[in-house]
Amino acid sequence: MVTLLVKNATVLVTMDEHRRELPGGGLFARDGWIEQVGSTAELPGSADRVLDAAGLIVVPGLVNTHHHFYQTLTRAIAQNSPLFDWLTTLYPIWARLTPEDIRISTRVALLEMAMSGCTTSSDHLYLFPNRSRLEDEIEPARELGIRFHAAYGSMSLGRSRGGLPPDSVVESEEKILAESVRVIEAHHDPAPGAMIRVVLAPCSPFSVTPDIMRESARLARRYGVHLHTHLAETKDEEAFCLERFGKDPLAYAEDLDWVGSDVWFAHAVHPGEGGPGWMARHGCGVAHCPSSNMRLASGIAPIARYLEAGVRVGLGVDGSASNDGGNLLGEARQAMLLARVAGSPGLAGAEEMPQMPARTALEMATLGGASVLGRDDVGVLAPGKCADFAAFDLDRLEFSGALHDPVAALLLCSPVPAAHTYVHGSPVIAEGRPVAVELEDLLEQHNRASRRLIGG
Ligand SMILES: [Zn+2]
Repeated sequence: MVTLLVKNATVLVTMDEHRRELPGGGLFARDGWIEQVGSTAELPGSADRVLDAAGLIVVPGLVNTHHHFYQTLTRAIAQNSPLFDWLTTLYPIWARLTPEDIRISTRVALLEMAMSGCTTSSDHLYLFPNRSRLEDEIEPARELGIRFHAAYGSMSLGRSRGGLPPDSVVESEEKILAESVRVIEAHHDPAPGAMIRVVLAPCSPFSVTPDIMRESARLARRYGVHLHTHLAETKDEEAFCLERFGKDPLAYAEDLDWVGSDVWFAHAVHPGEGGPGWMARHGCGVAHCPSSNMRLASGIAPIARYLEAGVRVGLGVDGSASNDGGNLLGEARQAMLLARVAGSPGLAGAEEMPQMPARTALEMATLGGASVLGRDDVGVLAPGKCADFAAFDLDRLEFSGALHDPVAALLLCSPVPAAHTYVHGSPVIAEGRPVAVELEDLLEQHNRASRRLIGG
């Protein structure tokens, strides 16, 4: 039994049902599970591990709902290209990835996320060149101690059959389905507090066949795992679906049985007029990736309309080749700002919407993301939930002048790195440094791998 006491936070944001923010707050946890949340005076006076959070704002650990870790190796490439050109530039580089590259990039991506306060991340890995396996992500995630939803992706529709990726990076449907069963049976943990869950995630309408989508849905339901894919990301994708399948991306997904509370879509930028109602009616979740959508000029997802319709919305940094960073706190800020652009009264085609409050952006980054991943044990600081949280130092240049509202400051001011990030009661980041990894060594390995990949 290991106990943890967090005390004296300048403010502790609970995200509980009353959205309480507790000045002078803290929490008490045992074996990674929160037992008490309240003012410091109400909590036990000691514990095996004590974090004095004086001068810090403590928030539930942020939850990332969409990423491609391996892309940390190929940042800042195809700098001015839209999605399809960007992908066709990068596919041949990614075809050179080795299992060790995937391991190194997983460490870098997860540490970058943890430094921004993220405690749970999904990742969508859809290329397995040179005998890579999903374990090349799962094992490093387990070692780092970050909660991980491994989305087993796939591509089965190569260029010779009318898809976008070169044939060299696609796999046979038999192999994809056999591997889906193998990784679920080997790694999926449905229990509350799970560190690893597996998700089935064929890549996108233009890189997989309808058969693999249908079969993946059938398998996912047999095993009770969630489903994830890219959908309605760009106008090019919509045109592809209309031409090849005779329907728009949402109708195509519905046709394939890809609807329900166990399904979440990355992007959903172009859902059509009835899209928000459709998402709500079917209970699907959305991973909103504002930086990537801006970087690739994909468009602006109608987030205010999703929220208004009751759709579950989380945030994703998306892969680091289209962001080109993995800062989830920064992503929450981008989401808030982009929603304001989308609702700007002066912008042609914009629908006038109330400005998205900072606290709504923080809610999407925590509770929203947890809900999209199908978790009710994280994203909130309350008794019975996991002790996953991030603490940010308020005594910094960036926050000076905003301390009358530290919660809003966290979103409105420049994003700062977390001082402490805890997962299940254990520190992953302490005093602003990774606990289990020599960062300098890791960056040297990562840059070496990146040079080799990009250089061919
Ligand atoms: Zn993506």
